[in-house]
Amino acid sequence: MISDILEQIKIQIKRVKTANGFYSQKLKDINIEDIKEFSDFEQLPFSEKDNLREAYPLGLSVVPEERIVRIHSSSGTTGTPVIVPYTQKDVDDWALLFKRCYEIAGVSPLDRIHITPGYGLWTAGIGFQLGAEKLGAMTIPMGPGNTNKQLNFMIDLKSTVLCATSSYALLLAEEISRRGLHDKIHLKKGIIGSERWGEKMRERIATELGVELYDIYGLTEIYGPGIAINCTHHTGMHYFNDFLYIEVIDPKTGKVLPEGQTGELVITTLKKDAAPLIRYRTHDLSRIIPSNSPCPCGRPYPRIDVILGRTDDMIKVKGVNIFPAQFDSVLKKIKDVSSEYQIMIDHLEGKDTVTLFFETPVAEHSMLKRIEADVKIQCKSDIGISVNPKGVAIGELPRSEKKTTRIFDNRY
Ligand code: ZN
Repeated sequence: MISDILEQIKIQIKRVKTANGFYSQKLKDINIEDIKEFSDFEQLPFSEKDNLREAYPLGLSVVPEERIVRIHSSSGTTGTPVIVPYTQKDVDDWALLFKRCYEIAGVSPLDRIHITPGYGLWTAGIGFQLGAEKLGAMTIPMGPGNTNKQLNFMIDLKSTVLCATSSYALLLAEEISRRGLHDKIHLKKGIIGSERWGEKMRERIATELGVELYDIYGLTEIYGPGIAINCTHHTGMHYFNDFLYIEVIDPKTGKVLPEGQTGELVITTLKKDAAPLIRYRTHDLSRIIPSNSPCPCGRPYPRIDVILGRTDDMIKVKGVNIFPAQFDSVLKKIKDVSSEYQIMIDHLEGKDTVTLFFETPVAEHSMLKRIEADVKIQCKSDIGISVNPKGVAIGELPRSEKKTTRIFDNRY
């Protein structure tokens, strides 16, 4: 199996080297015959999103134009977007992977799948759609926004599966609570993708919607969402090692880390047709769950852990590396605190200060002060930094339909 993967990787390297794309330059000094072991493969250069940007518009393609049936584009917030071309095989493979995800989450052709991520250049909505159609379930292709219509359709069409980002799922959950619609909705499962989210937020969405939640992983550069998902045992996300080779590296040194250690996911595609990627740095933080503790479901697919954050979210404050997931786990431990929080980092009077805003239903002054004190102590003991805790009312911190920014670094 392992040698099969290496052979598959070598076939892909040969394809990208011979095509006149950006990898032909990047790997021009690499002799494929020299790649005999994974340790040889691990010497190959990484590719970065910036490399893909340089290939704009269609430099990523390694197939003749007549075979390209579609492009997608990552929603880059700044600068040149990344354009990813797909052949029909890529579209079919993606649908297959996504169908597997639904099956792993226990979704069946009798389910009704309510899809709220956007359709279009972004890979999200259309990926959820493709996989659901391949599975044979009824889809309700809502796209984002228009909460009234979302809720009406959810009730009238008896949607059983909600596909959403975590922040949009939370927004819908809160609306359902506020309007007292619990008895009218039929949701059983939520498939939540595209951003890291904490345990407390998960609990709130699960409780308020009355559903079982599944994390789905993916990125536009590599098909889109649908390359990994957790099963009903919730022991991490199974990923499809017949399509992807995943390494975990130390984001600072680039060194490959052993199973179980947390670092940055680096992905090599094994079967991608139009735009194969070799050692692509995702900047997502996670780990490969050790193979000696297999998932009780018995599936052959290995697992990655939940996404802990982005390597760019890692911020150095007072000499300590911090990232948002740590604050999630701190707040989870404290009673009467919601999952929503925001961190402001400032540089005042010559030193870094960290203000942690969190939501709490408690308004009474002395009780609020006590909760703030608990948050402060817990941050110090778990993360190793001192914060100024500020409790605010539930609903005061912003929710978003797309991604929620948690850390604001105002020092520079
Ligand atoms: Zn499993």
